[in-house]
Amino acid sequence: MAYFVRSKQLFRLVIQHRNCHTAVASSPAVTKALNYINGERVQPVNKDTSQQFNLLYPATGEVLKIVQSSGSEDLNLAVTAAQTAQKTWGAMSGFERGQVLKKAADLIRSRQEELSKLETLDTGKPIWESKFDIQGCADTVEYYGGLASTISGEFLQLSGGNFAYTIREPLGVVGGIGAWNYPFQMATWKSSPALACGNSIVFKPSQMTPLTAVVLGEIYKEAGLPDGCFNVVQGEAETGSLLCNHPGVDKMSFTGSVDVGSKVMEACAKGIKHVTLELGGKSPLIIFEDSNLDNAVTGAMLANFLTQGQVCSNGTRVFVQKSVKSTFVDKLVTRTKSMKIGDPFSEDTTVGATITREQADKVLSYVNIAKKEGATVICGGTEVTPEPRFKDGVFISPCILTDCHDNMTVVKDEIFGSVLSVLEFDCEEEVIKRANDTEFGLAGGVFTNDLKRAHRVISQLKAGSLYVNNYNMYPVGVPFGGYKKSGIGRENGPEALEYYTQVKSVYVEMNDPEAPF
Ligand code: NAD
Repeated sequence: MAYFVRSKQLFRLVIQHRNCHTAVASSPAVTKALNYINGERVQPVNKDTSQQFNLLYPATGEVLKIVQSSGSEDLNLAVTAAQTAQKTWGAMSGFERGQVLKKAADLIRSRQEELSKLETLDTGKPIWESKFDIQGCADTVEYYGGLASTISGEFLQLSGGNFAYTIREPLGVVGGIGAWNYPFQMATWKSSPALACGNSIVFKPSQMTPLTAVVLGEIYKEAGLPDGCFNVVQGEAETGSLLCNHPGVDKMSFTGSVDVGSKVMEACAKGIKHVTLELGGKSPLIIFEDSNLDNAVTGAMLANFLTQGQVCSNGTRVFVQKSVKSTFVDKLVTRTKSMKIGDPFSEDTTVGATITREQADKVLSYVNIAKKEGATVICGGTEVTPEPRFKDGVFISPCILTDCHDNMTVVKDEIFGSVLSVLEFDCEEEVIKRANDTEFGLAGGVFTNDLKRAHRVISQLKAGSLYVNNYNMYPVGVPFGGYKKSGIGRENGPEALEYYTQVKSVYVEMNDPEAPF
């Protein structure tokens, strides 16, 4: 409840958009979002006021924090702390590291309520989603805690009694950069495998969601993680760029847009650094006429309307076989209209607030473009004010478009909002070709009761994360990542460990060495 009390105190503050770099809140009640370096919450050293902005609660526009971008000095402090701490942490056994992670998972569970509230304040997403997300984060940290003791090399017997062995070693200091839709998840998905492998990490959350990463730092510390192993630097693009280009950073793990991912990769190319990229998508969901249509509607809603549609893996191109299209659309519209848009802190709310005014304007402009290009808005796609107290927040009703074709802007671009395009198809061969006709390859799904067809279609879809008769499930232990422009590398599952380690090969001579000279 502390957050609601604080909200009332702040209610009279001037409402400003996020990313407004002038006139940040001057009330002493509004403090700066802090960095977390070497086991402590600290003020950013950088005081450049042109690199500050107000962090707003998306549902009401209330000022929550002032975000100050971290500068070179902040980065140096964080990276130096990480380099020093990594020496001790990397020398511990995987079992010992795993014990720390498992304890951290328990602590996340015990603080689920507090973390969920912060996550909803940061993102505007419904509280039930935040609770669900935080639970999943605890599972991920526990999972890597379990895997830590299994990280090992190989023994290779060679001729003459000689042998070789490999050691899977940490990379050193990992730089992590997150997007704003799943802030705590990104902090845990990157830090827990990195730490399990013996790396330290400097994490930069999105400037729009700075609240939970520092709490994760405190949780890790309480669980026994040595100071300096997990650090947080707040800031915008420039801070991210400083992190990627810092000579003390050995690997970058980035989640965000394709454009910025390309810049991150460029910086890593200059420094010959390891890099993993989790980028955008425009995924297909294919509904065949033999599917259970009620389940297919559930799948389409899961594929489009979680977190206000701001989900990278969303199946926003919903291909429906001609014979069932009209029944499918009727069912989908009825259920979509029954979604409750409202207070993100109410347990029954299913549509919360869009992250910023800018993002909402982008989503609404796509709906307008769709109309101009000939699509029909069957429902939603408008700004709504669920209650007067949310008049300065931004809420958009989930939108369903029909009469869409593959060349429409709305069908090609990633919108990152609740805009579902229904596309009609005749046969399997045709829909596979159309589903793959995109520069992205993050996810995809198929609804059918024909198992052979399900696997035949899935095997031809060019994407990294596929679903049969469900959508947007992320069970712990299942790798996640994209094909094509949707990314490089994998998060989750044992695969992630390969992206946080390097292999040292050791040849051992058991005889006298021979040389031809
Ligand atoms: P974004 O690319 O604008 O920003 C992502 C992060 O990069 C932020 O922390 C930002 O401060 C930082 N950044 C910006 N410019 C930078 C630079 N030049 N150098 C280094 N860092 C820089 O993305 P966003 O708007 O925060 O998130 C939405 C995008 O993220 C969508 O495209 C979505 O699909 C993608 N996303 C992908 C996944 C995935 O797992 N594949 C998950 C969530 C979001």
